[in-house]
Amino acid sequence: MPDNEFERIRYDIPAPGVARITLARAERRNAQDYQMLHELDTAFQKAALDDDVQVLVLAADGPHFSAGHDLTSVACADELETRTMTGGFRQPGQHGPMVNEEEMYLGMCWRWRNMPKPTIAQVQGKVIAGGLMLVWPCDMIIASADATFSDPTVAFGVNGHEYHTHLWEVGPRKAKEMLFRGHALTAAECEKLGMVNHVVARDELESFTLAIAVEIAARPAMGLKLAKLSVNQGLEAQGQYTAMQAAFGLHQLGHANARVVFDGFPVDPSGIEVIRQLSKG
Ligand code: ZN
Repeated sequence: MPDNEFERIRYDIPAPGVARITLARAERRNAQDYQMLHELDTAFQKAALDDDVQVLVLAADGPHFSAGHDLTSVACADELETRTMTGGFRQPGQHGPMVNEEEMYLGMCWRWRNMPKPTIAQVQGKVIAGGLMLVWPCDMIIASADATFSDPTVAFGVNGHEYHTHLWEVGPRKAKEMLFRGHALTAAECEKLGMVNHVVARDELESFTLAIAVEIAARPAMGLKLAKLSVNQGLEAQGQYTAMQAAFGLHQLGHANARVVFDGFPVDPSGIEVIRQLSKG
């Protein structure tokens, strides 16, 4: 697989039946701009359509998995080939910004979550806000002991990041504390809460994850697809997707409110320094 197929990520086949996507923007702590999200979507689709791929691993270069969305990159989703039926990317008011987030954030993550093959996130270092939006759509999470997970975006005056499954990931009380305080949960805490499947030493992370992927890849594709669907349909029966859509609407209310109060700025600017401090710790 040529490395130059993508600019922000790599795609390889580290073992028979296993595809691996690696975030390759370590110099920016794997911050996700629209181009990276678009490349990720292409790579997920490539793995989904390849009958020789049974399992997908999502990994990252560098000391940190992902610092979240790259808020310094200015882009509109219609500059790339759109992947959903969403339109109106340049509409005024909150309309345009909302559909950009529908396409690039919630829409992409939801497609990856529903890929009909097992996906495993291989996570080290910091995972902040939008970083969780790559990890949580995966079926399993393997973390190194140094991994931490946080969503500090309430400091921006919104309800959390756009893929609002906090409740299901860590339970209602921890979800509220995680959102209210914006602090980081350790890998060990997340394993105890059931958010992380296994915590391993940093130097064993890649080999441990690959061994599990190889083990799963030996199972029949049909069984894997049906097992994944069965659990996901259970989440749907609990109303997960409806709750996520409701939270997305409130997220847009947070942005719209900020635009009115802060002269068109989409978030509470006082959150910038708060989040910078929280993201350091
Ligand atoms: Zn947003």
